[in-house]
Amino acid sequence: MVQLVDIVSSLNREFKINEFGKDPAFSRFIPKAYNNDINWKKIFEPNFIELFNGLMIKGYSSVCNVFLAVFPTAEILEKFIEMGDPGDLLFMHHPLTMECGDPRGKWGRGFVHIEKSLLERVVDKGLSIYTCHAPMDYHRTLGTSQAIAEKLGIDVTERFIHNEKHGDIGIIGDIKTTNTIELIEQLKCIFEIPYVDFEGINKSVVKKVAVIAGCGDKVNWMEEAERKGVEAYISGEIHCHIDNDYGKERYQQIKDFANKTNMSLIGVSHSASEYLVKKTLMYRWFKDKFNLNVVLIPQNKWWL
Ligand SMILES: [Zn+2]
Ligand SMILES: [Zn+2]
Repeated sequence: MVQLVDIVSSLNREFKINEFGKDPAFSRFIPKAYNNDINWKKIFEPNFIELFNGLMIKGYSSVCNVFLAVFPTAEILEKFIEMGDPGDLLFMHHPLTMECGDPRGKWGRGFVHIEKSLLERVVDKGLSIYTCHAPMDYHRTLGTSQAIAEKLGIDVTERFIHNEKHGDIGIIGDIKTTNTIELIEQLKCIFEIPYVDFEGINKSVVKKVAVIAGCGDKVNWMEEAERKGVEAYISGEIHCHIDNDYGKERYQQIKDFANKTNMSLIGVSHSASEYLVKKTLMYRWFKDKFNLNVVLIPQNKWWL
């Protein structure tokens, strides 16, 4: 058994939660996603409602099991509540589910908050939740893109999508020479997905790749990668399928780019692209640091 406060301070140090400042995405989207009948400011920890990263819900003080997931979907929280003993901790990347839509199915709703009854059951059982978003996307050794680069055996030549204060979220480098079709098969296997999202050109030689976990659907990022000689651009989302005006506009921008690019654009789903780091780097981090049982909770469906 480990004290929650020790795990939290270790995570806060590792990800520099306080120094990072407010999460750029969730400081905007959490207040927007919750409506008035959920008093999230009262349920979430005071430091969390300032920074939108770190310990979100504080349960009992001793932890036996740590659960790792990426999004707080109803399915994930049901499993955590059922399997977790009082005091156990759920570590995730997102505090809100992100539905980007299924390229072969329904378009998504964008950010979706946690249902009130699930929040109440987490609190009633004395369970804890910790989330780490942007500090994890930028992290050099425990990052979301870093995990993909390591799994693909990328020989990293440069990092891009730079922020003065935080560093880079994208990685560029060389893989063992392959082609688009083989690379797609390899990605389906790594991310355990039934199909990828695809745009652009089918290439007979792929050596230089770019990886961006999560939403890589930004034309200027793709243009930058192409200028740097990238042949395959791998991301969670190469175009979001979010069912609103914003989503449709973004979708069209990528479609226009895809018609003229010479790269392969490959999406492996937002959630699977960001789950990998839990399965590999974070799993090992928790195992090495603490004498705890670490349990992975994969989603049934990655294309949400
Ligand atoms: Zn991310
Ligand atoms: Zn994300």
